[in-house]
Amino acid sequence: MDEFETIQRLFAPLGRSEPGAFGLGDDAAALAPAPGQDFVLTKDAIVGGVHFFPDDPADAVAAKLLRVNLSDLAAKGAVPRAYLLAAGFPADLDGAWMEGFARGLGDDIGHFGGALVGGDTVSTPGPAFFSLTAIGEVPSGTMIRRAGARPGDLVCVSGTIGDAALHVAHRLEGRAVQGAEHLERRYRFPEPRLALGRALRGVARAACDISDGLVADLGHICEQSGVGAVIEAAKLPLSPAAAASIAADAALLETVLTGGDDYELVFAAAPDSDLAALSAITPVTVVGRFEEGHGVRVLDGAGSALKLSRTGWRHAVGTKEAGA
Ligand code: ADP
Ligand code: MG
Repeated sequence: MDEFETIQRLFAPLGRSEPGAFGLGDDAAALAPAPGQDFVLTKDAIVGGVHFFPDDPADAVAAKLLRVNLSDLAAKGAVPRAYLLAAGFPADLDGAWMEGFARGLGDDIGHFGGALVGGDTVSTPGPAFFSLTAIGEVPSGTMIRRAGARPGDLVCVSGTIGDAALHVAHRLEGRAVQGAEHLERRYRFPEPRLALGRALRGVARAACDISDGLVADLGHICEQSGVGAVIEAAKLPLSPAAAASIAADAALLETVLTGGDDYELVFAAAPDSDLAALSAITPVTVVGRFEEGHGVRVLDGAGSALKLSRTGWRHAVGTKEAGA
């Protein structure tokens, strides 16, 4: 397949729902936000051997590429509208892998919404790399920022925390875990919290998705909001697999607090917020409070401060961010 065929056969079907994509037959797409909406734009890039394992299935790699971007849109309260994809395929890659990649991307775009409206396809002498730009929409002026949390606000998280990081610790460091299949699924197919994100408009004072780890990403909200936060480890929402893993090896608590790749949301809500309404969409758990000051403190069950040796993953598989 030459480049033109690749684009037309594999990628053009993924843009069919958007007239402004012109069937990926033009030099560029033309889009306007719906009346009264702003575009919200984000990009994430992944490299084989760094952000995904070389033997990960092609459709799972594509799904993850899309979902990490959708997670950013979710954190901003945005609805997915369009995507641009730069695909760097190794010269010796077999066609079946590319087809699997396009299928995984197409299935997920069909599920989550939006359309592929453009990109570039190149051959690379190095590992596979992919860069996806996601364009979402929010009612004008309503994008949820990292700035905006106030002292006294609740620190809330969605879903369960730490599953993906436990999978990585298991796979890379050989750490013993329970419920390994659940943990792997959570790593490979993170669930972008788009419906929750939309509901957070006008409710969350600040929000961020958890890609680098809860402590690190909550730290980003604190930094941008000019506040501090304190969380209680005992309140962390854990999957049965994560809870059993920590029960068998208490040191894994730190992995859960500081490990990345969950793609849940962490947000600030006023103390009188209706969290039950949010939890009807995706379970929401209060894990702490914002406070005057700066930085994130984590308290153990006895109320003493936990000393963490690292604050988060730097996205990269196997590359830890050292120190706090
Ligand atoms: P040019 O070389 O003029 O930039 P290309 O031949 O690279 O154009 O691309 C032709 C069309 O196909 C453009 O609309 C471009 O956005 C689209 N396209 C190319 N690669 C991809 C891709 N991987 N995913 C989506 N659209 C793509
Ligand atoms: Mg052109």
